[in-house]
Amino acid sequence: MTQDIALYIHVPFCRRRCRYCSFVSYAHRQTDIPAYVNALKCELEQRANREQVGSIYFGGGTPSLLPAEILGDLLAAIRSLFDLDEAAEITIEANPGTVDRTYLADIKKAGVNRLSLGIQSLNDRELEMLGRIHTAAEAIDSVKAARNAGFDNLNLDLIYGLPGQTMKEWQMALSGALALKPEHLSLYALSLEEGTPLYRMIEDKQLPAIDPDITADQYELSENLLTQHGYRHYEISNWALPGRECHHNLVYWHNQPYLGIGVAAHSHIGNHRFANTSNLDKYLTGTLLPEMDEAISPDLELAETAILGLRLDEGIGVDTRYQEQVEELTAAGLLERAGRRVKLTGRGRLLGNEVFWRFLPE
Ligand code: SF4
Repeated sequence: MTQDIALYIHVPFCRRRCRYCSFVSYAHRQTDIPAYVNALKCELEQRANREQVGSIYFGGGTPSLLPAEILGDLLAAIRSLFDLDEAAEITIEANPGTVDRTYLADIKKAGVNRLSLGIQSLNDRELEMLGRIHTAAEAIDSVKAARNAGFDNLNLDLIYGLPGQTMKEWQMALSGALALKPEHLSLYALSLEEGTPLYRMIEDKQLPAIDPDITADQYELSENLLTQHGYRHYEISNWALPGRECHHNLVYWHNQPYLGIGVAAHSHIGNHRFANTSNLDKYLTGTLLPEMDEAISPDLELAETAILGLRLDEGIGVDTRYQEQVEELTAAGLLERAGRRVKLTGRGRLLGNEVFWRFLPE
């Protein structure tokens, strides 16, 4: 019998690198897109086993740099190799400044039914600091273009905890995003990675250091404001209107199988986890070179299911082997019981990593 899987396709191209970026992305390599798509098709043919696919997610990088006809062609290849659910959620990440109404209408026609727009901020000074390629006005225009093209399932990504960002500025960003009435919001605290230009700018004191207390307050403000507007805080960093949770990401959080295609893509099928090379030139050779390949022990599988499940507001049913951790973390105010389940408290959501490591096998 074939398995149900979620399918992730990584598109590593970007117009230019944002100052905070630590993702696998390549600037000024767009001329490689046709060769890359051929390599993707090659990998799809090698890995496909007529699995039933309930969701497809094009992530990046900037997947909206793929021309609409190439995207349609890729989706046709996927349909021919897998058993794609008729109601499958098909998401593409897009950056403002790379999309217009015509493009969005074309990809919708090709089958994309969910759009995730990386607006990140609605403040031009912040966008410039982050090195984004677009302005706030372009971000708003891209939302309007998406609605005009018929998208009725829209996620907006925003980043908080920026250097020098005040509570007031974050509140304005959130209010601006809410005014656009997205079905889903993903809010991420800025992750400052060593080696990025933004990290160096803070080290060199060109920008103020990030204040973790303000970041925590901004998170709490988000929880309150979005709840007031009817969004369910269903995962640590994700909010959705009722029924608009991201099905694809729920597969990850439920620790269910997924297949990742493309440079640096990760897969988890059965008790096996593997990742492709993150080197674009090596990937373009068409030879699959795993960068990581490991078996997952039953103990680790159980722990990861608990850790990922705790990210969700529904929490987890408690396996007796975690009784001790649950009692200690509940006493510390990081977990709480909800009937027969256990979930993170508000404080636990802020200090998730302090909870998660306690579930890992020794
Ligand atoms: S758009 Fe995303 S992937 Fe591309 S450079 Fe910016 S942060 Fe990195």
